[in-house]
Amino acid sequence: MTNIVNLFAPPECSAVDSLGEVFLVGAGPGDPELITVKAMRLLKDADAIVYDRLANPVLLDYAHKHCDLIYVGKKKDQHSLPQDQICTLLAALAGCGKKVVRLKGGDPFIFGRGGEEVEHLAAQGIACTIVPGITAAIGCAAATQIPLTHRDHAHAVTFITGHRQQGKMHINWDLALQRDSTVVFYMGLSNLKEITAELIARGCPTNKPFAVVAQGTSNAQQVLVGTVGNIADKLAQHPLPSPALLMMGDVINANTYAQQLANLTSTAKPVSSAILEVI
Ligand code: SAH
Repeated sequence: MTNIVNLFAPPECSAVDSLGEVFLVGAGPGDPELITVKAMRLLKDADAIVYDRLANPVLLDYAHKHCDLIYVGKKKDQHSLPQDQICTLLAALAGCGKKVVRLKGGDPFIFGRGGEEVEHLAAQGIACTIVPGITAAIGCAAATQIPLTHRDHAHAVTFITGHRQQGKMHINWDLALQRDSTVVFYMGLSNLKEITAELIARGCPTNKPFAVVAQGTSNAQQVLVGTVGNIADKLAQHPLPSPALLMMGDVINANTYAQQLANLTSTAKPVSSAILEVI
């Protein structure tokens, strides 16, 4: 295995006196300015940055010129490096005495497999620090002005994965159907039709507000707004790219900004100029 491991952390370097360390760093969603000051300092100081597809590549410009930049991105059903080898790579780099930044989109602990990486490093006795990032739900809520827990509409917000494992969805439907709450589905774009059909079959009112936010917070952000009953048809008419979040709840109608963005999306204007027009 692991040509990439041998390339960046050859076995002979593992004899160094002191172990390095790993920082699991959240890059935030699409807008690179949403990264934390702490994360930025670590990026500038890193000997190696191991980064994902969802971390904005602009952030790599802050690395110093001797830093190794190692892409291990994952796309649906397509992993450039399997998770166990990513863990091995992180441990091997630290074993060579390097300061390693593991840069992940959003927050490392929200559907980011950060937990597995920390476990692996702890088992090898390698120090690991977590630097949180703005998760997609929080970034997209801000960019669309959907107030996730507006007190008139929601007393809770739930993050759920809409991803399939071995062809099956593992959604806790009771959680998704709680009253007075907002639900955000990560990784649900390709299953939106099944998710909304199942929600309706389990008693969700078809007029429950529903939004899809694609490439949220970036210049290419696009928004669709509808209801549980009609969002699948709307998406079929205006397919959106990944990454995208699905949001459900009355908070979507708490103000009209998301609706305005959605109308602009459906007339297929470039969203960066469309947002300026709304403002
Ligand atoms: N750790 C990440 C989530 C990784 S799971 C975080 O905290 O945000 C990947 C999923 O996140 C995508 O399938 C999509 O549902 C969501 N996502 C990530 N970035 C996004 C963005 N800019 N806009 C909309 N959804 C995004």
